[in-house]
Amino acid sequence: MVRGALTTTLAEAARGGAGLLLLSDYDGTLTPIVRRPEAASLDEATRGVLAALARAPRVAVGVISGRALEDLRGRVRVPGVVYAGAHGLEVEGAGLAFRHPEATRLAPGLAALAEALASRLPSLPGVRVEPKGLTVALHYREARAGVAPTVRRIARAAVEASGLPVELLPGKRVLELRPAVGWTKGDCALWLRDALAPRVVGRWVTTLYVGDDTTDEQVFTALKGQGLTVRVGGGRTAADFRVKDVRAVRRLLARLLAWFGEGATTQANGVTAPVGPRRR
Ligand SMILES: [Mg+2]
Repeated sequence: MVRGALTTTLAEAARGGAGLLLLSDYDGTLTPIVRRPEAASLDEATRGVLAALARAPRVAVGVISGRALEDLRGRVRVPGVVYAGAHGLEVEGAGLAFRHPEATRLAPGLAALAEALASRLPSLPGVRVEPKGLTVALHYREARAGVAPTVRRIARAAVEASGLPVELLPGKRVLELRPAVGWTKGDCALWLRDALAPRVVGRWVTTLYVGDDTTDEQVFTALKGQGLTVRVGGGRTAADFRVKDVRAVRRLLARLLAWFGEGATTQANGVTAPVGPRRR
């Protein structure tokens, strides 16, 4: 679908008095994909827009990422935002706290698995193991092209040897190892929606999810018919809409602030009036 339809839908919802639940991925969505993941920082302008959105009574904001929760929070650093790390296995912020019990139980096994992988990978220059608490990432952005099948084979063998219920999630030049506990990024998005939507002031709540990668497809599918979903960049997608790149996401966020932020007005019964005070 075209971007025009997305902005029209959102602008009309705002004018009609809707509140907004904004859920977003981090890497490749709020910040460009960079060679080394530790260099992916949020620019100040985007942080400012997110902060203003998080402050607005008509808006709630959540960021869901494959990064560990602490890492994600340290990068976004916006008060009032809910953070979900490890693809939704751990959630904290705005009074919410959740850690998937089954995944937590598997964390020591995951750490051992990360060590086993680190001992096997020196044969592959440029491939790095990142233990992330509840998940493990194998980064190969700096490795030679065509290395992906070998990384997958080594990971699969290590998982089998560990005997742990762990699934492999391919991403952009990364392979994630994640406890297979029946809780996807999509499940987390629905959980956040149910927890946060009642806090949003508005005649109804429009849920918007923006993401760029494989695991975001789980959210696009989970929210089908229940929210507006946006894929950043190319590739096959279950999302309703598509935007070109991170810059387009930033433009979209600025428009959301204009439409749903404090000071925005709504058109109801032919009268333009500010939306009422925040419900608690
Ligand atoms: Mg991403």
